[in-house]
Amino acid sequence: EEGHQSMMARVEPNIEEFTYVIVGGGIAGVTCAEHLHILHPEERTLVITASPMIKTVTNILPVTKILESFDVEERPARQLQDTYPNLTVVKDTVIGLDSAKQHVLTSSGKCFSFQKLCLCNGATPKIIAPNSPHVVWIRDTESAQQFQARIQNAKRILIIGNGGIATEMVYEVREIEIIWAIKDRHMTAHFIDPGAAEFLRSELNQEKTPTSAPTKRTKFTVDNTKNTEEHQLGGALGPDWHADLELRGKAQRTVTLETEVEVARIMEPAEFNKEGKTLTLLHDNEEEWPVYAELTNGKVYGCNFIVSAIGVTPNTSEFTKGNNLELGEDGGFLVDDKMKTSVKNIFAAGDVCSPGWKLAKHWFQMRLWTQARHMGMYVAKCMWAEVVGEEVYQDFCFELFVHTTKFFGHKVILLGLFNGQNLSDKYEVLLRVTKGTEYVKCIMEDGRLQGAVLIGETDLEETFENLILDQLDLSHFGADLLHPGVDIEDFFD
Ligand code: FAD
Repeated sequence: EEGHQSMMARVEPNIEEFTYVIVGGGIAGVTCAEHLHILHPEERTLVITASPMIKTVTNILPVTKILESFDVEERPARQLQDTYPNLTVVKDTVIGLDSAKQHVLTSSGKCFSFQKLCLCNGATPKIIAPNSPHVVWIRDTESAQQFQARIQNAKRILIIGNGGIATEMVYEVREIEIIWAIKDRHMTAHFIDPGAAEFLRSELNQEKTPTSAPTKRTKFTVDNTKNTEEHQLGGALGPDWHADLELRGKAQRTVTLETEVEVARIMEPAEFNKEGKTLTLLHDNEEEWPVYAELTNGKVYGCNFIVSAIGVTPNTSEFTKGNNLELGEDGGFLVDDKMKTSVKNIFAAGDVCSPGWKLAKHWFQMRLWTQARHMGMYVAKCMWAEVVGEEVYQDFCFELFVHTTKFFGHKVILLGLFNGQNLSDKYEVLLRVTKGTEYVKCIMEDGRLQGAVLIGETDLEETFENLILDQLDLSHFGADLLHPGVDIEDFFD
């Protein structure tokens, strides 16, 4: 800490002053900067980003009152500065914070002072065996490209993890054997219940038909930098990270799902041969594999490489040194209902923060694009309000959890307590399923809708959002709520 203090002292003569300083050029940081420009164009705002590309949200389309679909574009950091004259964008890495003096220090030795600081520096994937040459993970454009390069010569991969990234990956990779190891009882458990998992499971072994039409979404430009620090700090990818990648191996696609397991051990071929463990075979004669993984159920699989997709850890360590920044249970900067950390004039938003306010019944944090954007917009308002002495009220978007994505080619919309979160088993489930076409699940408590999973083109999202927000008593509908003949929308007329 002493070294850190003296470092700060040495660079003080060259301090550059800004009203607002934002760390991070991901969705949270860029959205915050854009909104500060709208709210306070006359003040100087600085964005410091470790990656040369920043992320901007484009083509925003409202799906419901709260839910939007949008594209994400990676752009050179300079473009942001060219668009917003009050904004300075610096490509650099923050390595120190002096919260008392309100300075941040960067790896190139620069020092910036702030009146209000917003930490939007994201999260880093948790990786099993990070030093193993046989383990890969996807975080940014560069790691996605590396994954593509490796998969081209692979016949079998082991994917560990059960979140959105693992699910998308299982769907996206073609012509390859996949062992999918998950610690839950059913696939994609963070997002869907066993019923929905069963609905999607029939698609598992099907080879995805390649689309020839260009996707509407973003293409990510490759950052060719070889700097490993930048690599680690690159912004998280988001929807359609795979859109431009040819994710194809060298075998016939099969998916072997291993549930309620973790990886116990990763072995080199020599180690595996020495131990004399029994190999779980998918074929009669399996060649020697580059790596072997022993699962906690005792099975040992050989594969070309292992993909680690087991979640993220907020990037807080550079900032906690010497500062009294309180962390939430999951390791993010704890923020209150004004997105303020425990230290004066320091705010946080996006993947790096953990909400510490009393949450609305139907909202909870999931580290996703939509929330990074919502938090980025709201934190700008909160910072501005403190500078100009205005009062702000918490944004409406924190009333209801909303998420839209695609799993196995199907449109998926999640609303509210879609998995019965926090309802301690005192809820009813209403279901409407048309195999291969749609899956509609409603979570009901005391006759009121608490959450919903909508898979397919159901057109129910807007009505259901209203029903959750308004908490209307629907008990007289009973199980007929989902009857195709019942027009729930009439309820609002
Ligand atoms: P990030 O986008 O991670 O941005 C952090 C920024 O901080 C970066 O610019 C980084 O360079 C910078 N930075 C970090 N440390 C420093 C430092 N010390 N100094 C300066 N700058 C620093 N979400 C969805 O909603 N839907 C999806 O389908 C989806 N798919 C995903 C697929 C993948 C492969 C991954 C990895 C994530 C996915 N996510 C998805 C999650 C989503 O990408 C994140 O929730 C979102 O990007 C978080 O935005 P953020 O701005 O908080 O952080």
